[in-house]
This record gives sequence, C-alpha cells and structure tokens, in this order.
Amino acid sequence: MRISRREFLKASAAAGTVWGMTASGLLRLQKVLAAEGGPLVVWLQGQSCSGCSVSLLNSIYYTTIDDLLINTLDLEFHPTVMAAAGDLAVSAAEAANAAGGYVLVVEGAIPTAENGDYCHIWPGTTILDAVQSFSQNAGYVLAVGGCAAFGGVPGGSPNPTGASGVRDILGSPANLINIPGCPAHPDWIVGTISYLLANGRAPRLDSEGRPKLFFDKTVHSRCERKVKFCGKRPKAPGLSQPGCLKELGCKGPDSKADCPVRQWNSGGAGRMGVNWCVGAGAPCHGCTEPGFPDAMSPFYKDLN
Ligand code: SF4
Repeated sequence: MRISRREFLKASAAAGTVWGMTASGLLRLQKVLAAEGGPLVVWLQGQSCSGCSVSLLNSIYYTTIDDLLINTLDLEFHPTVMAAAGDLAVSAAEAANAAGGYVLVVEGAIPTAENGDYCHIWPGTTILDAVQSFSQNAGYVLAVGGCAAFGGVPGGSPNPTGASGVRDILGSPANLINIPGCPAHPDWIVGTISYLLANGRAPRLDSEGRPKLFFDKTVHSRCERKVKFCGKRPKAPGLSQPGCLKELGCKGPDSKADCPVRQWNSGGAGRMGVNWCVGAGAPCHGCTEPGFPDAMSPFYKDLN
C-alpha cells in the first residue's frame, strides 16, 4: 500500500491527539512536511538486531517507509533500507555530516572495548567513531531502542564488548532523546521526529531522557489486568491465563511506557494497535527501562 504525502498529512492530523500535539503544533508540522524536501535523517546501526528498523517499517499507521523516510524525512543514510551501497552510501553520509543540522538516529549499542573494534560500520570507521563524529553536527540525536539508549541486550552481563548506550558515550547532551524499547514502537520514533519538526524543540523528557509523551506513566498504572482485577488482583494461574501476571514476573509496575493504551500493529491511522505483551498473556519484561535485560531478569520469576 502506498500513501501519498497528502495522506500522510491527514494521518498526522488524525494522530495528533495521540502525540499530545496542540492544533497549532499540528499546523506547523503540516507546513514543514508540505514543504519541498524534508529534514535530513542519518540512521546509524551499531550492535543491533535491526528490530527497531523493522518496527519502523511497520509504521503503516502513518505512511509507507519510502514516503516517510525518502520523500518526507529525506533519509540520507540507512544501512538496511537505502538503495545505495559502498562508497556511494558512505559519501552520502559524509556529505550529510558536513552539511550538519540533521536528525541523527542511532540504533544498537556501541561497543567501547578495544577502541570500538567490535563494530565497524564501513572500512576504517567504528560505530564509536561515527557516533562521536556525527553527533557533533546533528541538530538532534535520537537513541532508538533499548540498546542505543541504555546498552540493552548487547550490554547484558558479561558484556565482553563493553556495549554502551549513546548517553554513556556522549554524556547526555541537551539534544539527545532516548526512545527505548525492544523494539521501540514506531509511533514513538515517528511521533518524536514529528514533534521536533513541528515545534523546533524537543518534547519534555523524563529523568532518563525519554519523551514524556510516551513514557510518562508505568505500564502497570494503565494495565487492563489491573483494571479488571482491581482490588482483588488475583494471580494468574499461568501464562495466557486471566489475572495479574506480577507473580509470574511482570515488570509493569517498574516500567514506563504507553503500551497498554497504544498497543502494537495498528491497522491504520487513528486506530489503536491490536495487542501488546500483557494483553497476549506474557509478563511485561521492562524493555523500556535502563538496566534491561539484567535488572529485569529472570523474566518469568517474581522478583519481589
Ligand atoms: Fe500490573 Fe503486570 Fe499485573 Fe498488569 S499484569 S496489573 S502490569 S503487574
């Protein structure tokens, strides 16, 4: 399915309340998107399974990936979706870096052991080099996914590569926004970029650098199982069974994200997703929190 720029604008209006945008914010966003040529986006991948890129590809809520990241956001470099390869691709990234002002998206953790030698993104350049270099000229830096934000799965014990999050490398500059999750929800990514475009500034962030638009409340506070079983909160006898999953290891009380109300795999603009982890009978694993996965393990055992 291909969606035109005009339809994207309509979809962004429909989604406005979901992002918490004001009417004037939406108007500004639509003007920016309607202009010829979108803001440059440079997307770097470090130690990653590419799951956050795959998640973004599911962003049918807004548009198709080509319209979003080529026609609308002017994706200058993305290792797994761009058509160019080799020197041509690298020269595009370097040209964007020289021009500056782009949105830098980092997906995946950054290995710091052995001077970053564990992950080269093109000959002679490690992801560690690239994050340090490209962040200098970026308007905003988005650490997308739990790995880029906080180290994530590659940073789990014993972490032989010294996998780290972007903030560990850059020291939490003011233009860094963390969008964690394993993977990050496509609305969180697109919504944050759209907010930047519409308002010319970052959304309000919490103490972990996450947009409060999406990460202001715990999963537990809006969980359908809490609502259903409020007061009694009977323990679910097993996975996929009715009842609260806390005693089966649910980390919802310690994890901030809007999964219960946003849900995943939306079928179209303005519609909620079809389900989420706890809705499907699995405990929340706390993938949006610093320390995931070690601090949230074991996943299926009550830690209290
Ligand atoms: Fe809270 Fe998890 Fe129980 Fe839902 S299933 S009420 S998030 S502890």
